[in-house]
Order: sequence, then C-alpha cells, then structure tokens
Amino acid sequence: MTPPFAVLDRIALLAILTDPQGRVVYVNAAAKALGAVGEGDRFSPISQPEAMRIVKSIGTSTDRFTTAVEVETRPRLIEWTPSCLPDGTLLYTGQDVTQDRRAYAMMKELARLAADTSDAKMRFLATMSHEMRTPLNGILGMAGLLLDTHLDSPQRTYAEAVRESGMALLALINDILDYSKIEAGWLELEEQSFDPTALFQSVTELLSPRAANKGIEIASYIAPDVPRRLRGDEGRLRQVLLNLAGNGVKFTEKGGVSLELRLAPGGTPEKPHLHFEVRDTGVGISAADIDKIFKEFGQVDDSRLRNHEGTGLGLTIAQRIVSAMGSKIKVQSTPGAGSIFHFTTALPAAQPPSANIPLAAKVSLPVVVATDNDFLRRMLSLQLEAVGVETVLLAATAQEAHAHLKQMPTAALLCDLPIAADDGARLAKTSPLAIVLLSPLARGRLEAFKRAGFSGYLIKPIRQTSLLERLSGASLSDPGLPPPPRLDAREVSRLAPAVRKLRVLLAEDNQINSVLATAILKRAGHHVDVASNGKEAVEMFALAPYDIVLMDMRMPEMDGLEATRALRQGGHGEVPIIALTANAMSMDREACLQAGMNDFLSKPFDPGDLLAMLERWTASPSPQAQEVTSNR
Ligand code: ADP
Repeated sequence: MTPPFAVLDRIALLAILTDPQGRVVYVNAAAKALGAVGEGDRFSPISQPEAMRIVKSIGTSTDRFTTAVEVETRPRLIEWTPSCLPDGTLLYTGQDVTQDRRAYAMMKELARLAADTSDAKMRFLATMSHEMRTPLNGILGMAGLLLDTHLDSPQRTYAEAVRESGMALLALINDILDYSKIEAGWLELEEQSFDPTALFQSVTELLSPRAANKGIEIASYIAPDVPRRLRGDEGRLRQVLLNLAGNGVKFTEKGGVSLELRLAPGGTPEKPHLHFEVRDTGVGISAADIDKIFKEFGQVDDSRLRNHEGTGLGLTIAQRIVSAMGSKIKVQSTPGAGSIFHFTTALPAAQPPSANIPLAAKVSLPVVVATDNDFLRRMLSLQLEAVGVETVLLAATAQEAHAHLKQMPTAALLCDLPIAADDGARLAKTSPLAIVLLSPLARGRLEAFKRAGFSGYLIKPIRQTSLLERLSGASLSDPGLPPPPRLDAREVSRLAPAVRKLRVLLAEDNQINSVLATAILKRAGHHVDVASNGKEAVEMFALAPYDIVLMDMRMPEMDGLEATRALRQGGHGEVPIIALTANAMSMDREACLQAGMNDFLSKPFDPGDLLAMLERWTASPSPQAQEVTSNR
C-alpha cells in the first residue's frame, strides 16, 4: 500500500518515510519546510534493533522518541512516533515540541523556586520565632519571679503589666508561626477518634474563668442524636472553637456565649454532617465589617473595642482550618444583639448514634428553670431537652418561679444564684428537688444555700451529664459539699516543696535563661549545675551523674541533639533528658525524641510546667515507659 502522500503533504505534522535500513524515501511538506532531512538521506532517530522491534509490532507501537534538530542554527526538539507500514517501511510522524518542553522546564523551575522561597520563608520564621522566644522566656520568667517577691502595690501593677505584655507578644508569635505554617501548606489534618462532648466541655471550662470575670455565662449544648464519638482532628477543632468562643467572650458584656453541635441534613449514620455553632449576645458586627474580619489582621475599627487584646489573625487561621475540613465559617450578626459563627462539616462516626443513651431512660420530672439571664434560660432549656426532660417551665423572676411551682408542685427547680440569693429559701421549700446553680467563684456560698433548703448544686458551666445525674433518681441523695477545686499538676508543684531533691544538670548557653531556670529549680529545693554548651554537659555528666538533664537545643560548640546522642552512646540510657528550647515547631520535637530525649518543654515555659515535668520524669521507676507530653 502506498501512503496517501497528497494528504501527508497537507498536514501540520512532520512525516518521513524510510526503508527498514533507515534511508529516507519520502519527506512531507512540513518536514521539508523544517529542512531537517532530505530524500536519500539516512534517518534513524532510533537504533536499528528498536526499528526492527517496531517493524515487528506493525502499527501497534505507541513508542515516542525525541530528537534534537538544528534549524537555521536554532535547536528544535521533535517528538517522533514511528510506526510500521504493511510493506515494511517505517513512517515517522513528528511534532515540534520545543515550546512545550521549554514551557514545562520553565514551570518546573518556577515551582522549584516557589518551594525554595516558601521553605526559606519558613526557615526564616522558625529562626525569628526562636530568637524572639529566647528573650521572652527571660522577660516572662523574671517577671514571674519578681511577682513572687514582696512588692508594694504600684510595683506589683508594673510587674504584672510586664508579664501581660509578654504574654500578648507570645500569643502574637504563636499566631504568626501557625498562620505561616498554614500558608506554606503545612496544615495536615489528623484523624483520631474523639468525644465531642468532652471537647465542648474542655473549651467551655477553659474559657469559664474569663467569662466569670466579665459576669457573663458560657455554656455548651450537644444534640442527643450526635454520635458519642467522632473521627477527626480534635486538636484543630479545639483551636477553631477556642478562637470563636474566645472572641465571643471578648466581645460580650452581658448574656453569654454558647457552643452548640447538631446534626445537619444530608449526612449518613456512618458519616453525619455536623453543624458547629458559636453564639454570643455581644456587640455584634455590622454587615460591612463581616468581610473584613476574616482577612489577615482584620479588626473592626470601633472605638468601643479599641483596647481589646488580639492579633486579628485568629479568624483567618480558623477559616483556613475549617476550609481544610471542606467547609467555611459563616457569620450572622446583629450589631448590639450578638453574633453566630457557624460551619458544617462531615466527620465519620466512630460509634453509631444508636450507642447514645435512649431518651426514654432519662428524666421524667418536670423542671422549672429560674434565672434572670435570657441566655442561660435558652441554654438550660436546650440542655434539659437533650437529657429527655419533657416539661420545662421558664421563669425570669422569683414570682414567675413561684407561679410555676404552684401549678406543678412535683417539679424540680434549677435556680440561678441571683434569684436564689433573693428568694431562695421560700422557693426551695416548694420544690421536692431544689438545685442552686453556682459559678466556681461562688462555691463558698453552698453551705448557706443548703441551710436555706436547697438539696443540690450544679457548678457552671453546666455539663449535660451532671444535669442528667442531678435530675435522675441518683441525684436525690444529698450531694454534700462540692470537693475543693482540684489543683492541676502545675499548681501543686508551685505550692508544695519538691518531694525529692534532685541533682539537675542544666545545659543552657543564654545567661539570663540559665539564671531563670536555676532560680526556679533552686527555689523548689533542687541542686543545679549549669553547663554552657553541650560539650561541657557531656563532660560534667561523665564526672558525676545527675537525676535529670535539661537540655537547650541550640548551643555553641555542641548542640543539644548532639550532646544527647553522646550521652546516650556513652551508656547513660536511663537518665531522663528534657529539651528546654525556644524551637516551637513539631519537627523540632521529633528531632529531640529521635536524638534520644524523653520530653520537650518549649520556651517560654511556666515555672510550674518545668517543675511538673521534673516530677513526672523522676517520680516513676521507669520514666521511659511514660507517655510523652509537651506544653505545645
Ligand atoms: P482578634 O480577636 O485577635 O482581633 P480575630 O481574627 O479572631 O482576631 O477577629 C478579628 C476581628 O473580628 C476582631 O478584632 C473583632 O473586631 C471581630 N470579631 C470577631 N469575633 C467577634 C465577635 N464574636 N463579636 C464581635 N466582633 C468579633
């Protein structure tokens, strides 16, 4: 068969026909125009065995070969596709790919440059963050030590201002670092099983002292059909909720802030759609400002708010995280009345909703809720509904509560502090189960309320589970006095002298930070020796072993990682080594653990955290077996 030469002459592709030995028998018009080869020339962009292979594969080969051809001294890249015709001749069709290849190479180069720039930016930020944290550790730590001495009132005010400004600066550094990590595409969501109720409780409980200081409420509600356990990135969700609810507390002067979680339409039992909502009854945001607040450093320019602390990065970060979860934070707000920040995301259920407690098994009592706080009335009625209470009667005043109890004498009474303080004794007498609602600060008044006839108490923020316990049969017994507030490990170690005096080796090159850590450790009764770099630390350890080593990471001569490796290789496998470092990235933490350290405390650290860390790693007979934690 003769190739259709007339057609080949009209196409834009190059076409060359050779005999099996590679001698050109035909060149089409496009190939002639390029002037690459002429008839009678030898043309074999591929080796003879390759050509023979293609000859054998008659027409089925999809191989492509690229050759460089010089055209008017300009090199061109031609991509040839050989195929074998039935008479054994080879037809090469060719395409000029010079532009494509150049564009591709350029794109690759640009991508490499962008990645380099982004890496360089991150390295710069990590270094800057380290450089800023080191002096901040000194500022915060020394201010803390100063505040523990005898100061007169103005001196105390000044020292507190130093510490608070330092804390604000630290929050800013953390936000900028987190924001930059996210911008550089370092946001990777984890997936683990978590309990949404515990998450909501931890956020409300963390913010509750701030809310109590402002005289506002904070509460959470989880709809009864939300699965008990979900799968997702609990840490990042907490960050988003803390930011939204933290803003709520910041911008609310009366009423309160709520965190609410419900199922949204569209999901399946295995992968429900979850609607997260953070509401407040605060200043609100005008429609014009709503666009602004999700932008970097976007803050509403309002003279009423001028003095609030904050970086203007929180919402930007929260929005990025939620967008990585495939959703978007939306806002509804009425200036003067409050705001609702909400988003819906699909998270796999780690336990089906059928594992939830069936409503029928819950509470059968009617309940009267007495509080003058509109926000709290709404939240309590939601929470009561969630634990299965069918009849909820709301009262904004003592008179209304009396009227409800008269009408329904078997009803339990949930009475908020102001009404309880006003008319509690009379109200408590008319209900078989009178419960007073107290803020943590008002615990001390419980005895008086018990004498006035209240049979139980609930501490705010109220947990749905506690509500259920108090209102179900079990709660009818006297709950007695609430236990004293539990101190966390930090407070315990701050207050109590160290149980065991430890020999501590501190490797730290920064003099101020070394004075600070030494002062904290000595005050707790420990013995401290200081090495000013890793090499010295290794030498000192060889002379006299220590109970624990606190190791800075960046030090001259020998850094902390190398010193740790040297100690571990030198046969000191047992001694706990704790990194004490201003490097705040998770990869730094990984590097420390890999080098053989046991734990990580990032600077600036709280003195209590340092002492708790010491206790944690020296109390147990087998420190290595403990779970690793970090303060960041
Ligand atoms: P920051 O709170 O640190 O300033 P954010 O990014 O979290 O930064 O918030 C940006 C701005 O949005 C705030 O400064 C405030 O003007 C406004 N804003 C955020 N949340 C609320 C809220 N719940 N009520 C009123 N204004 C808010």
